[in-house]
Amino acid sequence: MSAANKISNNKATPDVEVAIIGTGFAGLGMAIRLKQEGQDSFVLLERAAEVGGTWRDNHYPGAACDVPSHLYSFSFAPNPDWSRKYPTQPELYRYLRKVANDYGLYPHIRFNSTLEDATYDEANGLWRVVTSSGEVTARSLVMGSGGLAEPKLPDIPGVETFQGKTFHSSRWDHDYDLTGKRVAVIGTGASAIQLVPEIAKKAGRLDVYQRTPNWIIPRNDRAYLAAEKTLFRKLPLTRQLHRAAIYWGHESRVMGLVLNPKLMTLFQKLAEWHIRRQVKDKAMRDIVTPDYTIGCKRILISNDWYPALQQPNVELVTHGIREIRANSIVTADGTEREIDVLVFATGFYATENPIADRVHGRDGDTLAHAWRDGEEAYLGTLVNGFPNLYFIIGPNTGLGHTSMIFMIETQVDYIARLLALRNKAGGKVLEVRPEVQARYNEKLQARLGSSIWATGCDSWYKHKSGKITALWPGFTFEFRLRARRFNQQDYLID
Ligand code: NAP
Repeated sequence: MSAANKISNNKATPDVEVAIIGTGFAGLGMAIRLKQEGQDSFVLLERAAEVGGTWRDNHYPGAACDVPSHLYSFSFAPNPDWSRKYPTQPELYRYLRKVANDYGLYPHIRFNSTLEDATYDEANGLWRVVTSSGEVTARSLVMGSGGLAEPKLPDIPGVETFQGKTFHSSRWDHDYDLTGKRVAVIGTGASAIQLVPEIAKKAGRLDVYQRTPNWIIPRNDRAYLAAEKTLFRKLPLTRQLHRAAIYWGHESRVMGLVLNPKLMTLFQKLAEWHIRRQVKDKAMRDIVTPDYTIGCKRILISNDWYPALQQPNVELVTHGIREIRANSIVTADGTEREIDVLVFATGFYATENPIADRVHGRDGDTLAHAWRDGEEAYLGTLVNGFPNLYFIIGPNTGLGHTSMIFMIETQVDYIARLLALRNKAGGKVLEVRPEVQARYNEKLQARLGSSIWATGCDSWYKHKSGKITALWPGFTFEFRLRARRFNQQDYLID
């Protein structure tokens, strides 16, 4: 029986006004806003047994955020006590659980509820949502399920035949002791550069498989002094100024990423200097130096990646992987390296997210089908053909330069305003006009065409068609201004 057929509840009045998928920053932010608007008729559907989203799932050794803590947190729920400039995973996870508790969200959450199907019921103007723990009907459905939530395994011949222990970076098994083991890590992205230095301290041997090197700049991290925390607590204005300084410092990077890629030269010089300073061997320097302009792929920050690669028990392997066998990896040059553990630091389904197969809009069309040529939405939030469906961190809202929490708060505010607009108009259904969505995306893609992300590198920012579907091509304040500027004519309200 298909998930859609499992729906037995055919009533025309929804169980709740709003169903929210996920309890990361996006889902929690939406729920808090609904409460603030006096809307208590909502449910959060969470596949795990705790809140936290990506910061609950990504607890691999060394997991931390590369956006400063005072900016990578809700503006309305500040924490003067962040311990460091860059927050670690445990601290962020604690923060999110505290926020959920402080705002009384736990009673609204249905844990262990994986989304199996969401189907729009046109006759009644509501969403029928089936989860692993039961069904719920809602007038509106908010997808806060995250852009980087579904782990991606590499499509390498023989990967399924491996007999040893496997981990994905976002599904770490801390009960498994890596001490003295022969470990292979596939991938050299943001997750790998954090976990490799930690594993290198324990593993007997560590092979790191690099397909493409990344540009890496120094990580200027430090602990906040007790005096700074006291100041932030007693004089909130100092914390606000600190946050604003971080925001504008990061925002200035847009000049190079979008307006004029040549402006990224300074960053590239810094990254080249970082390699020269930390890597003494010329051959090794060549291997870790990318051949694309900095910024085309996400710029990484680390002080311990290059030193880790030069440890005596670590080998950086740059030959392509030909095959994975029961207990080994064979590279294109014919070398076979035996291993006990295989770590996939191979990223996520940022595009072609499998969740899109489970969402059916008007006429039963899936989101995956609507997005077959690349994901697109209006302001990353609305998709024509999917009435009363709202995305947070939807298509083209990702960032290469600053905090996603700013975008999340912007979208939460936008959704709250749309819900109010629909209610004020006395309607049950809101949908973006198709021509508005088309025009918006045409302009967006034109801007992306001259951005640094289109300068000739492969990245998870792109759909397989080559279209850049993950990133917002501009300043984040511009996105906020656009989302606030309201034109009622852009929407169909019924
Ligand atoms: P990622 O950036 O997509 O990196 C995946 C890595 O796996 C790349 O090095 C990729 O090589 C490699 N790979 C994939 N398939 C492969 C294959 N078949 N054979 C060989 N290599 C393969 O994934 P991630 O490191 O998990 O990071 C994803 C995103 O999560 C980041 O960009 C960031 O937005 C976020 N993140 C943030 C933090 C942080 O704040 N510090 C930490 C972790 C993650 P290619 O480059 O050649 O494709």
